[in-house]
Formats: sequence, structure tokens, C-alpha cells
Amino acid sequence: MKEADAYDVEKFTALLREADRHCRSAAGGAAVIIASSPCVLAESGPARTPQAVRITEECTGCRECLDMFECPALVWDEEAGKVGISRAACNQCGVCLSVCPTQAIVVDEGAAA
Ligand code: SF4
Ligand code: SF4
Repeated sequence: MKEADAYDVEKFTALLREADRHCRSAAGGAAVIIASSPCVLAESGPARTPQAVRITEECTGCRECLDMFECPALVWDEEAGKVGISRAACNQCGVCLSVCPTQAIVVDEGAAA
């Protein structure tokens, strides 16, 4: 069993991969990971610096963020053939910054926090 901060996306992803390797190995078995951070939407959740994000022109419309990551604030723009962000739904958690294979999701430096 291991415990980690789910908002430390790089470390948490590495831990998930390690658990997957363990489960699939010949000597493997169950792997338990405790995500130690409460939901950012919970009142008792951690105080975090908001990170507004935007989608750049580098978006290829591959839909990986929609199909694999599934944040409800990421929405398909039919007209543009790309992904957009619903400002009403986005809580500026910044977790999506590491999910795009072409790094098309970036910090929106010009957005008011
Ligand atoms: S933002 Fe990235 S992952 Fe999402 S559709 Fe565009 S290129 Fe694909
Ligand atoms: S910043 Fe958080 S809420 Fe906003 S689109 Fe990215 S993952 Fe979703």
C-alpha cells in the first residue's frame, strides 16, 4: 500500500504505473494506492493557487483529453473541430495541464484568477 497526493500528477502517474506493473507481474497481486488529497470542490479541500488554462492552436482534435481524462469542463467544439473549455464548469485546478500529448493545454497567463 502506498499513499500519494493525487494533485502531484507526475508522481501520482508514476505510482499508478508502478502499481500496474506490480499487478501484471508474475509475482504480482493487488496494489493499493490511497489518494491523500481531498476533492478541490470540498469546503475542507486544500487551498490551491487557481490555474486558469486555455487550449492553444496546437490542439489537433485528437480527443484524448475528452476520452481518457474526462473533465466535464473540457468540451468538444464541433465548429472548430477542437476542444474548448467551459469557463462555467472549470474550477481552475490545473490537473489537465499534463494530459495533452501535444501540450496544447497551457496556463492562461492573461486570465484573471
Ligand atoms: S487538447 Fe490535446 S488531448 Fe485534447 S483534443 Fe486537443 S490535442 Fe487532443
Ligand atoms: S483546470 Fe481542472 S477543471 Fe479546468 S479544464 Fe482543467 S482539469 Fe478541468
